[in-house]
Amino acid sequence: MAADECNIRVVARFRPLNDSEERAGSKSVVKFPADQEETVLISGKVYVFDKVFRPDSTQEKVYNEAAKEIVKDVLSGYNGTIFAYGQTSSGKTHTMEGIMGSDGQQGIVPRIVQDIFNHIYTLDANLQFQIKVSYFEIYLDKIRDLLDVSKTNLAVHEDKNRVPYVKGVTERFVSSPDEVFEIMEEGKNNRHIAVTNMNEHSSRSHSVFLIHVKQENVESEKKLTGKLYLVDLAGSEKVSKTGAEGQVLDEAKNINKSLSALGNVISALADGTKSHVPYRDSKLTRILQESLGGNARTTIIICCSPASFNESETKSTLEFGKRAKCIKNSVMVNEELTAEEWKRRWEKEREKVARLKGQLNRAEIELERWRRGETVNKEEQINLQEPDETLPVSQSITSLSTAVLAAPIATVTGVTPIAPVNYELRSTNADEWEKERTALYQQLDEKDDEINNLAQAIERLKSQTNEQDELFNQARKDNENLQAELNRLQQECESSKEEVKEVLQALEELAVNYDQKTQEVETKSKENETLTQELETKLASLNGIREELESLREATQTQRKRFLDMILVLLRDVGDIGSIMGGQMHEQKKPTIENLDQAEEEFTLARLYLSKLKTEARSISGRLSELELEKVDHQKGIGLKDKELDETHLLVQQHEAKMRSMIESMKELEDKKRALEQTQDSLNEQLVKLRAQGRVTNSVGSTSDVQKELTQQMEQISEQHQKQLTTLRDEIRAKETQMETLKDSLQKLQLSYEKLSGDFEKLKKEETGKSSRLQEMTLQQERREQAKQDLKGLEETVAKELQTLHNLRKLFVQDLQTRLKKSQKQPEAEDDDMGGSVAQKQKISFLENNLDQLTKVHKQLVRENADLRCELPKLEKRLKATMDRVKSLEQALKDAKESAMKDRKRYQCEVDRIKEAVRQRNIARRTNAAQIVKPIRAGVNPSTTTSTPIPTIRGGSGSQTMDQ
Ligand code: ADP
Ligand code: MG
Repeated sequence: MAADECNIRVVARFRPLNDSEERAGSKSVVKFPADQEETVLISGKVYVFDKVFRPDSTQEKVYNEAAKEIVKDVLSGYNGTIFAYGQTSSGKTHTMEGIMGSDGQQGIVPRIVQDIFNHIYTLDANLQFQIKVSYFEIYLDKIRDLLDVSKTNLAVHEDKNRVPYVKGVTERFVSSPDEVFEIMEEGKNNRHIAVTNMNEHSSRSHSVFLIHVKQENVESEKKLTGKLYLVDLAGSEKVSKTGAEGQVLDEAKNINKSLSALGNVISALADGTKSHVPYRDSKLTRILQESLGGNARTTIIICCSPASFNESETKSTLEFGKRAKCIKNSVMVNEELTAEEWKRRWEKEREKVARLKGQLNRAEIELERWRRGETVNKEEQINLQEPDETLPVSQSITSLSTAVLAAPIATVTGVTPIAPVNYELRSTNADEWEKERTALYQQLDEKDDEINNLAQAIERLKSQTNEQDELFNQARKDNENLQAELNRLQQECESSKEEVKEVLQALEELAVNYDQKTQEVETKSKENETLTQELETKLASLNGIREELESLREATQTQRKRFLDMILVLLRDVGDIGSIMGGQMHEQKKPTIENLDQAEEEFTLARLYLSKLKTEARSISGRLSELELEKVDHQKGIGLKDKELDETHLLVQQHEAKMRSMIESMKELEDKKRALEQTQDSLNEQLVKLRAQGRVTNSVGSTSDVQKELTQQMEQISEQHQKQLTTLRDEIRAKETQMETLKDSLQKLQLSYEKLSGDFEKLKKEETGKSSRLQEMTLQQERREQAKQDLKGLEETVAKELQTLHNLRKLFVQDLQTRLKKSQKQPEAEDDDMGGSVAQKQKISFLENNLDQLTKVHKQLVRENADLRCELPKLEKRLKATMDRVKSLEQALKDAKESAMKDRKRYQCEVDRIKEAVRQRNIARRTNAAQIVKPIRAGVNPSTTTSTPIPTIRGGSGSQTMDQ
């Protein structure tokens, strides 16, 4: 298997100026020459790395150019390491982790994990992978498992190929990126839980994430393994700058120690001349042993701040990178070989060794010749660079052993000529040294183990002592509590005892009282008996009286019934009267008797009713007199009206006579008129005759005189006639007007007559109505009078009845009293027949009082007795309860005392045991103190190494004490 030499890749990453730097006015002091991605200038000095990432570089770019190829390497069976170096807040964690879960901001670790799986998915199906991860941190040179918080101080061991590994670290098999992320999250959470200030802690601890990839080709059975260390180192700043003090300083020193050990290792490796590389100075360097100068492809990411404030720090970081860049690793595939393969290789190596031996022999011969002063021809000289001798010895050895011990390689590769004797000596010496060194290393590992065990034992003891302390405290507290409880119980006991005493006293008093009371009760009961006897006799007499009373009551009852019947009858009569009296009384309720007990009430009601009737009668009589007066007035009016009527009759008759005479005169006038008209007609005829005569005469001629005479006569007659006519007409007219007026007056008279007759009719009617009413009234009056008389009679009878009733009552009461007296007298009559009633009464009342008092006292006594009887069992119960309580308290007291004693004993035992353990441990320490050894390392000057001697303790005293 061939091993390739390759340099450690170093890339530098500059982060942008951060806020605080910008606020402080810091300027960027780094310059990046254009078109050169490998160089960086800082205050004029040039640094060259494999790559320089500028502040604007993305996470993706950093990953692609600094870390991506490691994935393929690891999956091809190589070991790989990426670690970030730089001062605090220079961007180490940002570069390694970034923001998990963010596509753009996630760092190298999540991207690698993702890529490993992605790559596996593209590989041959015959390949079977097994991936496991570990996550731990190194803090104060102690390895703390982040996936199992109980593992706080893990040891570093070497496997059979002398490759260091962390023994006992938790390994989790994973099958997807998400599982890995979950584990990382878990580890980070555990880290957070354990510390108070995470920022400070993370800047002082190295966190290591290890991915272990194992693959097997199912067909060819070829097995490859690759380990990838992803390390976020602690801040590389100097102690002075942080201004740390005390424990912080200690921590800083320790961190610085591991980092300076890292620096020393890198220096030693870079130097190439130093035979010893101090990997064992710190756990960090031991873990990174393979990565630095061993079998691993290593990339160091140098993280820097560009600020002027951090210039010196940046420079020292860059110097570190520069040194690391010189380191050469020899990498090879980690292949698990089959026995045949091993054999073949061995054959090959043997051939090679034989060939080399031949070469060496020829060289030695040539050397002899040279030493003898001979000159060797150019052709005869041995050519060490012959084509079949290309492999350098160092490499072959490395590839055979795979041990990464640089020292022997360095000695072999050193080309200084060595004298053969010296060489022999040195080779034997070297062998011895080598043996001694391996032995010492083995011892060292053993010591490491021991230290680890002891540390664990100490931890356990510490926790035990803590537990014991807690127990002790608990026991003390318990004891105190118990003591308090005890005191309380004692106090309670005392108080309950007192209580019991009091109760007993009270009971005694009660007993005495009870006796007295019973005596009293006895005397009283005797008295009571006599009294009851008396009472019985009295009761017997009372019964007799009661019977009599009963009979009397019956008699009164019958009387009452009779009386009530009477009253009923009376009332009915009254009611009838009322109904007779008329309408106004209708609304009044007629008294009815439904109940014997209501009789008196009803009677008073009847009285009321009567009085009302009286007032009613009075008002009616008043009304009657008024009506009579009215009647007289009306009669007077009627007389007047009669007179008027007679007068008008007379007038009418006169007018009728007048009218008759008028009518006669009219007839006369008519006759006259007719006679006049007859005369006028005759005259007119005479006139006509005369005229005819005149004409005849005129015609004859001699008749003019006669005519004249005739006309004269005619004129005289007509004048007379005319005069007569006019007077007649005037007379007629006057008569007519007279007739008219007469007619009018007649009409008027007729009208007034009619009116008068109507009035008369009306008056007549009124008079008849009034007279009928009067008649009614008089009838009513009469009835009323009668009723009044009846009522009077009734009242009298009622009064009489009432009187009799009253008398009866009186009689009854008297009778009762006499009977009562008699009954009272009867018992005394035996002693004193005559017995003064007053004295007897007094005695009776006295006796009665006595009896009352006695019964009262008796009752009270009985009650008291009952109460006491009730009280007694209660008191007894209470007494019993208190007794029980006292007993239980005493028992509890006893128990508490016993448990306290037990606790005390246990506690004493525990204390003794701890004391013994501590003593034994001290003894063990003292016995081992003499055997502290200093590791001696070959080719190492102890004065130049910074490592301090590690005290180791031999023997398993720690575990022995632990087991106890
Ligand atoms: P370190 O782990 O070295 O102590 P961090 O990685 O925690 O430092 O970084 C400190 C701060 O600077 C963080 O807030 C981080 O986000 C920021 N930071 C670091 N590097 C970069 C970068 N390249 N780009 C942007 N921010 C960064
Ligand atoms: Mg950090």
